[in-house]
Amino acid sequence: MAIELTARAYRIPTDGPEADGTLAWSSTTIVIVHASDGRAAGLGWTYGPAATAAVVAELLAPAVGALDPDDVPGAWTAMARQVRNAGRPGIAGMALSAADCALWDLKARRHGLPLAGLLGTARPAVPVYGSGGFTTYDEERLHHQLAHWAQEQGIPRVKIKIAQSWGRAPGRDLRRMADARRTIGDRAELFVDANGGYTRKQAVRVMRRAADLDVRWFEEPVSSDDLQGLGVVRDAVDADVAAGEYGYDLAYFGRMAPFVDCQQIDVTRCGGISEFLRAAAVAAAHGLDVSGHCAPHQHLAVTAAVPNLRHLEWFHDHVRVEGMLFDGTRSPEGGEVRVPSGEPGNGLTLKEADAERWRVA
Ligand SMILES: [Mg+2]
Repeated sequence: MAIELTARAYRIPTDGPEADGTLAWSSTTIVIVHASDGRAAGLGWTYGPAATAAVVAELLAPAVGALDPDDVPGAWTAMARQVRNAGRPGIAGMALSAADCALWDLKARRHGLPLAGLLGTARPAVPVYGSGGFTTYDEERLHHQLAHWAQEQGIPRVKIKIAQSWGRAPGRDLRRMADARRTIGDRAELFVDANGGYTRKQAVRVMRRAADLDVRWFEEPVSSDDLQGLGVVRDAVDADVAAGEYGYDLAYFGRMAPFVDCQQIDVTRCGGISEFLRAAAVAAAHGLDVSGHCAPHQHLAVTAAVPNLRHLEWFHDHVRVEGMLFDGTRSPEGGEVRVPSGEPGNGLTLKEADAERWRVA
């Protein structure tokens, strides 16, 4: 039995201009990996540049071609070794992650099991938080988005982006945080994400001035490369400080864990489902919860499997893209998303014909 890995990339324009504290974008590129044993096929994906698909074809596919599709740890090890000279963080790590997710999905489908059944679950549904609130939004757009999550969908946590223009507009950040609190009232917890846009002292000052807004989650107040800085902010503010979305290997999570309150892990970057489970164990060894970062449907089964899960990010862009490309996507109810438990694999099917118009590689 052999494994065939193939990858395609699709680029979908956003539904409006989007920016956070340190980046602006107008489209989202998703790279989808298909893993086949000649009869069953699994799929996994990552949100990375189209070049990620070339890494799958050039490096990963030849590394696993002759392996048994049920031996995912063996395939993972072969792929991780194969990207040594290309460099694990970045594009190679995203390719590895998407391929690992596709291989787990393939294994579940080969055995007629839901992916959540193959991995085992700690909970039947995953708590989510609504995530968007881009700095490009005007007051009305922000209000509608947050009201949709907190009121219509009943999600008791929402997150907005702050640190606009690398922290050069703290007055507007504070006004938008107050706007957000006004919209959600006491129905939801307020989370903020600075995407590394503040300095250490600036991050502490902004949180002091926002004291009456009861912010519960302060994501990347400073660059996630400034581990000491994350620790300084964590010790000075009431909100939980979180980071980890750029973690591409286990050692990264081990280095960061002593400096945060909650560790974020992205299954489409960290090394797939295989490494997500290990990274969550590293966090547990430091007494931390973990939170799934973006790519919500790719995270459902693995976050359901992790005992020390806090929540999963229900990210506006990716919820939209996944709904456009896949049949079988889910919606939150009461702040949770039920994990697919009936159909084999991750429960998703690529809408091949619809997807073709967005294809770039
Ligand atoms: Mg973030």
